[in-house]
Amino acid sequence: MNVTVIGLGPMGRAMVRALADAGHTVTVWNRTASRADGLDATLAATPAEAVAASELIVLSLTDYPAMDAILAGVEDFAGRTLVNLSSDTPDASRAAAARYPRFLTGGVMVPAPAVGTPGASVLYSGPAEVFEAYRDVLRVIGEPRYLGADPGLAQLFYQAYLDVFLTALSGLLHATALVTASGVPAARFLPSALEFLALTPGMISDGAEIARRLEAGEHPGALSNVRMMGATADHIVRTAAAGGVEVGLAEAVRSQYDRAIAAGHGDDDWTALYEVIRAK
Ligand code: NDP
Repeated sequence: MNVTVIGLGPMGRAMVRALADAGHTVTVWNRTASRADGLDATLAATPAEAVAASELIVLSLTDYPAMDAILAGVEDFAGRTLVNLSSDTPDASRAAAARYPRFLTGGVMVPAPAVGTPGASVLYSGPAEVFEAYRDVLRVIGEPRYLGADPGLAQLFYQAYLDVFLTALSGLLHATALVTASGVPAARFLPSALEFLALTPGMISDGAEIARRLEAGEHPGALSNVRMMGATADHIVRTAAAGGVEVGLAEAVRSQYDRAIAAGHGDDDWTALYEVIRAK
């Protein structure tokens, strides 16, 4: 079928390649037209022309306001389904779903070079019948994971996964800065830090059991209690300060331990931090 892709950053361009490789004809539009150069796709002259070209329109933009800016002059969405795979808040996704007649929200869970490869997956939410109508075409981008009718769900899961990812990346760079502040080259540390990161899930234990404990408000465990971990959190802040390294992230982590101890969780497992982090 013909598919329109609006937004030709690294992600949108990867989607165009995957769709074209799968045999679809692709129409594209991008604010900076030159980003269509080299793609096996037809460049529409206007957003309205791009929307008119296909019943399925995939958007890959920096955020949702970019979609509104692009589609502001488009009046006819009859028979069109918009699939916005851009990042934003769940509320922005819900508001957009109320504005456009057939609308799916989503998030791509792999970097651009992995789009269209077997390990790729993409989160979706919105009306089930709309998702089902395009599931097979969308599979070309990555294995679809449909989360439900609430248009904010895919965005919520996307932001939650990225919360894990972004804090891990910042932690990794902060840790590297601790080491390099003492004159140790990053190359001596970073590869082993990545190995350590890969071991972390095994050290934490199984996710289903942690979820059960969080929901039950139970935090048993003497091996990694809050008091011991909190002492280490303080040592990290002081090591950073001594090296002239930024302390903001480390202080935020220490503060979670301090507040958990103040709330009486010192002898509980580290999962008790959830009690000071979660919404009340
Ligand atoms: P880029 O920021 O490189 O590309 C953004 C696209 O949005 C460009 O086409 C840009 O147009 C367009 N754009 C931004 N603002 C406006 C505006 N106000 N009006 C019109 N067009 C606008 O992002 P990526 O391609 O890397 O990512 C796209 C989405 O995919 C993002 O939401 C990102 O979070 C998500 N994502 C990206 C991944 C990646 O590895 N890159 C991984 C997983 C998800 P122009 O070319 O004219 O600047």
